[in-house]
Amino acid sequence: MARSILAACAAIASCFGGALAQDGRPENPVAEGLYGPLDMYPGSALYSKPIEVAPGVWSAIGATQPATYENGGHNNNLSFVIGDNGVLVVNGGSNAALAEALHDEIRAVTDKPVLYAAAENGQGHAMLGMSYWKSQGVPVIAQTDGADVFAEDAYEILDRMKTVNKEVGDGTEVAEPDQTFDEELVLDLGGVTAQLVMFGPAHSPGDMSVIVPERNVIIAGDMAFHVRMPPIFEDTDTAGWLESWELFREEAEDRIIIPGHGGPTDFATVDAGTRVYVEFLRAEVQKILDADGTLQDAYEIDQSQYKHWHTYWELAARNAGRVFETMEFE
Ligand SMILES: [Zn+2]
Repeated sequence: MARSILAACAAIASCFGGALAQDGRPENPVAEGLYGPLDMYPGSALYSKPIEVAPGVWSAIGATQPATYENGGHNNNLSFVIGDNGVLVVNGGSNAALAEALHDEIRAVTDKPVLYAAAENGQGHAMLGMSYWKSQGVPVIAQTDGADVFAEDAYEILDRMKTVNKEVGDGTEVAEPDQTFDEELVLDLGGVTAQLVMFGPAHSPGDMSVIVPERNVIIAGDMAFHVRMPPIFEDTDTAGWLESWELFREEAEDRIIIPGHGGPTDFATVDAGTRVYVEFLRAEVQKILDADGTLQDAYEIDQSQYKHWHTYWELAARNAGRVFETMEFE
């Protein structure tokens, strides 16, 4: 649902019939290049070529855009970690073509087999490409809540992806995880450990991070954003996210961070790109609630300080509305 609204917003300039404070909105921010190039890796299904973030830890950084045909639905980070025994893949990507393209990149840097594929949550761009990994005999892992929400909506998510990605989506099927965990799962990759950790409610059900202590890296998943505006979905628990953030902080503060969206960075950057924004929005909505204001007032919150963030035009007003609708009942 949330993603289809996002796609529609990109296409029709405004989802809210002009009721929102969207003055100066560009006609089509994505096509106009406001959110970066449409594709950075022609010849590959991937949006960009993987980079080595730390020894043996790689990430193909996704477009900080809504999913489009041009970016192949590669709008989150697809990572892999190489140990002596084999490789852990983090995220399936939006479709099987992306997973297969990532596999080509893995083969180009190691002859070790892929041992596991883990999904950062239950969203399409974490889960749908898992059908490729399953076809390769690779076990798929997710946090329990992520697996549950994916199972509920999988066919709708698949249809939506195919509408955007057209023939690139061919061959992608619904494939549910083989293994789930609640709080933590430790994988031994041979000389390198991957700790799959759930810090608590955050951006979407089943959000988990992967800590690689030997490389001082944390693959944060959708706990952490920068460059683009974090989307608030109907099932985003912003109060819970701020609590979980403090647990995340303890693990992430001194590590290299591969966020869910945006390139590798440090804690201060994702703190500004995630927690500070969520706190700002909640504080502004609280003021409106205290003054018996309306949903319309929430849409009109001045978020112009975040105008430089990618996806601002699609998400700012909608995020404020979502926070208002949940905080009314907190
Ligand atoms: Zn994401």
